[in-house]
Amino acid sequence: MLEICDGCACSEGELHESFCTQEICPFCGALLASCGCMPKVLKLTPEEQHAVDAYIDDEIEPLKSINERWAQALDEKGRVPFHAVKVEAESV
Ligand SMILES: [Zn+2]
Ligand SMILES: [Zn+2]
Repeated sequence: MLEICDGCACSEGELHESFCTQEICPFCGALLASCGCMPKVLKLTPEEQHAVDAYIDDEIEPLKSINERWAQALDEKGRVPFHAVKVEAESV
């Protein structure tokens, strides 16, 4: 039985779309959307952290380059492909 990702509709074993809400963080193993690794891994400055917290338009700086740095850091670490059996899905 094939399952697809709730967030980006990728299939078993494929990488998620960038910043899919179901993607697992390769640094801590929690959901990327809710884990706190990004500021630590990228060593954000207070100004950059403020921009992230305020969620200013990510098509413009500084969020644009922060997102690019984060995507690059994830690639270097090795992104986690989608698996139909989710670690945190216990409410089935
Ligand atoms: Zn996905
Ligand atoms: Zn993390």
